[in-house]
Amino acid sequence: MHPLIEKMSAKRDEMVGFLELLVNTDSPSTEPELSTQVSRIVGRRCARAGAEVEYISRQGAGDHMKAVWRGRGKRKGHLLLLCHLDTVWPAGEAEKRPFTLEGDVARGPGVHDMKGGTVQALFALEEALESENPPPRDIILFCNTDEELGSGTSREIIESLAQDARAVFVLEPSVPPEGSLKTFRKGVGHFTITTRGRAAHSGADHSAGVSAIEEMARQIQRLHSFTDHETGTTVNVGEVAGGTRPNVVAAECTAKVDVRACTQDEGQAIEQRIAALEPFLEGAQVDVSGGFERPPMERTDTIVQLFERARALGSELGLDITEAGTGGASDGNFTAAMGVPTIDGLGAVGAGGHALDEWIRVDRMIERTALLVRLLQDL
Ligand SMILES: [Zn+2]
Repeated sequence: MHPLIEKMSAKRDEMVGFLELLVNTDSPSTEPELSTQVSRIVGRRCARAGAEVEYISRQGAGDHMKAVWRGRGKRKGHLLLLCHLDTVWPAGEAEKRPFTLEGDVARGPGVHDMKGGTVQALFALEEALESENPPPRDIILFCNTDEELGSGTSREIIESLAQDARAVFVLEPSVPPEGSLKTFRKGVGHFTITTRGRAAHSGADHSAGVSAIEEMARQIQRLHSFTDHETGTTVNVGEVAGGTRPNVVAAECTAKVDVRACTQDEGQAIEQRIAALEPFLEGAQVDVSGGFERPPMERTDTIVQLFERARALGSELGLDITEAGTGGASDGNFTAAMGVPTIDGLGAVGAGGHALDEWIRVDRMIERTALLVRLLQDL
């Protein structure tokens, strides 16, 4: 076993203890007071490790936490580490199914997405800063509390912190089964389509009506035909509501649409096609609102170079680091779209994010923490 992995293994109990504390402290995105508690726990730990810690309050979100380790600037350009402290689980979830550990498998709400990765970031920072080979760059760790809601209040902060960064490391979970790092992510758009027709009595005056539901049914077929699994563009009408009663020709119908694309160009193209929807039925109307919320994280040359660096450092540690992509988006989409080299999926190895059976492996947590230590020292 590589000496660094051995060293991190000695901290196993401490890591598990801290993970248990984070998992057993609920932090739903929708309850700012609760996610602020986790923000404080993480912030205190960063302060103990010598960071300048700042809590950033925004309406509707728990306090975001920024920790900066300055004065390391032997090399130009800082490293930015991104974690999110919020989970998709409601208040009371941790009480219902608290943290458990069986052998190497840890379970509990948010353990995979992404409290495990947050613990890895903190322990890697502590280890790297205390080591004989400390990081040659300033380091910023930013933890937001609204990622699961789309990072509406933290996007601007993330983008400003990523300016002039040498690289961004996102501690979101790795890709199952082997724990691949993420070198690309699809962009995500949300659209609302509203069709309007004309209400009429379905028996007495059917011909006077224009059915908004029929119009929507046709629009759904058109929208779904835009999906192209070859290019990776997907259009999913995931929610539909319309009409009032069976005996009334429906006057209005709405649909919520999730759109994913691998490249900025594909994203723009699909956005234009959706904006250009025209009604099929005479007398019907189609309105479109929405757009792309997170741009795609494209697999650029600089991202591939950064991944190759991680892979080489991993192989020195005896780890086989692979790469993959995902249709899900993260805050790495924002920084990658700015052209800042970004590697995602540096967090936990496990599966089941956002599901009741989410789990991670503690032995792999130790390995990935060692990998991040080497990245912090090397880059
Ligand atoms: Zn996540």
